[in-house]
Amino acid sequence: MTSSRLDSPPALPGYAHVYSGKVRDLYAPLDPATGQARDDQLLLVASDRLSAFDFILETPVPDKGAVLTQLSLWWFEQLEDLVPNHLVSTDVPDEVAGRAVLVRRLEMLPVECVARAYLTGGGLREYQADGHVSGIRLPEGLVDGSRLPQPVFTPSTKAPEGQHDEPMSYAAVEAAVGPDVAARARDLTTRILARGNEIAAERGILIADTKVEFGLDGDQLVLADEVLTPDSSRFWPADQWEPGHPQPSFDKEFVREWLMSPASGWDKASGEAPPPLPEDVLERTRAKYVEAYERLTGRTFTA
Ligand code: ATP
Ligand code: MG
Repeated sequence: MTSSRLDSPPALPGYAHVYSGKVRDLYAPLDPATGQARDDQLLLVASDRLSAFDFILETPVPDKGAVLTQLSLWWFEQLEDLVPNHLVSTDVPDEVAGRAVLVRRLEMLPVECVARAYLTGGGLREYQADGHVSGIRLPEGLVDGSRLPQPVFTPSTKAPEGQHDEPMSYAAVEAAVGPDVAARARDLTTRILARGNEIAAERGILIADTKVEFGLDGDQLVLADEVLTPDSSRFWPADQWEPGHPQPSFDKEFVREWLMSPASGWDKASGEAPPPLPEDVLERTRAKYVEAYERLTGRTFTA
């Protein structure tokens, strides 16, 4: 796999670049004795890239990669008794300090493990069609933003770059990874969201839904990638929660608002890439990421 990003990932002495996703650049550490790339570990570097409306925006959001990395590290600790995670060390090259982690390289499940605690987005559309989400029957009368009786597992495919993730039936997950791993991934995903909401509720944040990724280390299921961040989850300010209409989103509302406003000159329907973001939109977006981190962790973010 190679990257097709416009901005090439930084060269890091001692590491070989192996892949770039939408947000992260992955490197394999080189064995100092042989110079060969190790196959058991990865350096996961979170960039400041932001995606909106399925485009990677041209303008990075300062400190976003560090916020996501620090928040995931904090959550890994909060979830430690529930699920093992991929973290090996935070001792990383200076160039990427604070926004990179050294992790166990896992055999990733070919499934985006999504859980929903509140109904919106694609889950709402499925429910409106036939009262089910991912094959699970939900109570009648739910609206955009309704809280579900308990979190439900609504997996999706990991679409190749440039394509949308599609909903995946539970049977398809079982076929892909086997019934045992499927059941464990489903239970862990919903428990991670439930635990996340217990903790976030005390801090005035609702986590509507989230996506986690698991990998296998032998037959151990390990939490990988990032967890309960504004990129992987919908965070809603609890004091503004009002079912019946779309909720204000925590992080990307300024970006989406500006892109959809006449000021951007951008037409979503055109299929063209959005224009660069103005300074104030970037600054307000950065502030939202930092606020999510600070509210959840109770820590002050230092870049
Ligand atoms: P994609 O990789 O499909 O483009 P994405 O854009 O969300 O998805 P990023 O978050 O930018 O991806 O990159 C992270 C990549 O690293 C993902 O493909 C993820 O599956 C992979 N990954 C995360 N943790 C591990 C791990 N411990 N071992 C192997 N791969 C991992
Ligand atoms: Mg990702």
